[in-house]
Amino acid sequence: MILSEKHELMRNRFRDFAEAEFTDELLQKLEETGEFDWDIHYKMAAAGFMGLKIPVEYAGQGEDNLSYALMVEELARVSPVLSLYANTSNSLGAGPLLFCGSEEQKQKYLPPVARGESNLVFALTEPGAGSDAGGTLTTAVEDGDFYVLNGRKTFISGAPFADKAIVYAKTDPSLRGSRGISMFIMDMKLPGVSLGMHEKKMGIIGYPTSDIVMEDVRVHKSDLLGPLHNGFVTAMKTLDGGRLGVAAQAVGIAQGCLDETVKFAKIPDESGQIPAKSQNVSFMIADMATELEAARELVYSTAVMRDANVGDITKRCSMAKYFATEACNRIARQAVQLHGIFGLVQGYKVERLYRDARITTIYEGTSQVQQMVISGSVLK
Ligand SMILES: Cc1cc2nc3c(=O)[nH]c(=O)nc-3n(C[C@H](O)[C@H](O)[C@H](O)COP(=O)(O)OP(=O)(O)OC[C@H]3O[C@@H](n4cnc5c(N)ncnc54)[C@H](O)[C@@H]3O)c2cc1C
Repeated sequence: MILSEKHELMRNRFRDFAEAEFTDELLQKLEETGEFDWDIHYKMAAAGFMGLKIPVEYAGQGEDNLSYALMVEELARVSPVLSLYANTSNSLGAGPLLFCGSEEQKQKYLPPVARGESNLVFALTEPGAGSDAGGTLTTAVEDGDFYVLNGRKTFISGAPFADKAIVYAKTDPSLRGSRGISMFIMDMKLPGVSLGMHEKKMGIIGYPTSDIVMEDVRVHKSDLLGPLHNGFVTAMKTLDGGRLGVAAQAVGIAQGCLDETVKFAKIPDESGQIPAKSQNVSFMIADMATELEAARELVYSTAVMRDANVGDITKRCSMAKYFATEACNRIARQAVQLHGIFGLVQGYKVERLYRDARITTIYEGTSQVQQMVISGSVLK
């Protein structure tokens, strides 16, 4: 796609930032400690990344989905984990509030998120409710001016450092499946909220993930988000945007893999041969580049469709995520393959990108879930 001058400038701004600020030392520190890095978080916030897509009236930048996709792609090209720092606030964090928050809720919660002062996470998955998110067992029972929440959310990105969470809970157990679920904005400091262990993941290290446990947590009724018993619809709408973000992240990871492989293939090997001059290597690189370009086009055109509100957006977001994340994993595999033993050595960028790529076909709906969404739409 030919980008407008504005989008080209934005792409350059994101690229320059990532190349200057995501230093090897920082990336190494993230891998070693697994901790959230507040310094880079504040730098990204100061650059306006946390609220890129949040409207100006709520202290964001009010940019479109294409700008958002370009941001996530360019940040992920250097560091998939740091792309998440800016991605979460714009998609899963702010999404539910933008879809159905009251004006009062938006004014209260969005500006601190856009400024990077507040971290709002999305807590849908449970130990027995991943792909089948309608199987939510967390309950919220009305008690005077409050709802009392009990349950456990699992694998919640950012939970260990978040101050607020959007929590999905069953408010009408008589309704089956995805019906009877409501959304709440829960302060993580409320009595009864605790965290599970930090998960030790193979990739995306430096963006901590843990369970959130709720034991008789009293959430005020003013923090019920959207209509009672109807929160699942908003979760699914939010995931459309989230899936576009993961698809853009996958394009960035794949570009990072291709960049490294092209550089590596031009270095003479032990026998003085240039790998890129062999047809086998050059054809593999041609395949990587072609798949990447197809994924990028699908992601950008989906972002433009979402901005224009044209067509079956849910299906297109699923297609973009499904294709881009699977392509990214194939490209990352080929990148490691072409690096030979160096592809397995820590310190080589493709080793880290390969591990980071793996999650993209799993979170925000696995590839099989995307296949269900796409086929459901095509066959209806
Ligand atoms: C690092 C990380 C961060 C995450 N962050 C968050 C977060 O911030 N918030 C949040 O709510 N969740 C989060 N998740 C959870 C994530 O969304 C789930 O892992 C994902 O939805 C898959 O659920 P599951 O792991 O329970 O797998 P399962 O649902 O148990 O699926 C296991 C396998 O079976 C397949 N499968 C399941 N059902 C079907 C079916 N009907 N037909 C065909 N195949 C099927 C799946 O595709 C998958 O391959 C995160 C996960 C990870 C790994």
